[in-house]
Amino acid sequence: MNIEGMLKYQSLDRELNKLNEQFRTSDATVQYNRYMKLYKQTIEDGKRMSGVVAEHFVNLDRLTKQYEKLLTDIEEYNNSVDEIADLKQADYYEKQLTKLYSALEGIEKEVDNVRKELLKLDADSKAFFNNVNTYFLSVKKATPEMEKVKLEIQTKAKEVMLAQKEIEKTIEPELVAKYKKAKDISKFPHMVAFDEPTSSCRGCGLELSRDIAAKLRQEGGLEFCPNCNRLVYKQ
Ligand SMILES: [Zn+2]
Repeated sequence: MNIEGMLKYQSLDRELNKLNEQFRTSDATVQYNRYMKLYKQTIEDGKRMSGVVAEHFVNLDRLTKQYEKLLTDIEEYNNSVDEIADLKQADYYEKQLTKLYSALEGIEKEVDNVRKELLKLDADSKAFFNNVNTYFLSVKKATPEMEKVKLEIQTKAKEVMLAQKEIEKTIEPELVAKYKKAKDISKFPHMVAFDEPTSSCRGCGLELSRDIAAKLRQEGGLEFCPNCNRLVYKQ
């Protein structure tokens, strides 16, 4: 097993990680991400706001229907006033009408509240458009610098990856496959030495079982650590 080659490949992975980190923490990327986050948040706020506006209109529609229904009821009562037979009945109709009118007033108040809410939202939506515009322009302004840094780092990363491809040709495919599996499930470094005197994994320090340790002591021993999922090799 070309363990040396695999370790060299891993050291190139370390370089790639460093390049990624360099990109992630560069001023240009941090700036870009900050504006992008604000832009996305603003869009989310806008979506929420439009949901609230829609709710208000549904409410307004419901109130309008109630209003119309009350007006019809009042009209009906007014028409029946002509047919009132006695004072008792007149008293009853008057009470009913008073009730209807106060319901009508209640609806007018509710409509007025919705109107006030919508006015408030109108001011909010102006602020929203302002923010969207500002953050969009900020993202646009921050993009070229971020792209420049990205390109520089990608160029370096490409060289490293080409070197990895060359090394990969000299390593047994089973070993490469095991390393890549470890890469998916463990933290860097993904391949660590077996500490023979203590029978432990040098990645996390776990004392390996007698079974795994025995396999590792054999020539070309290569096992996964059950604790940190790293690939443990015999030096
Ligand atoms: Zn371990």
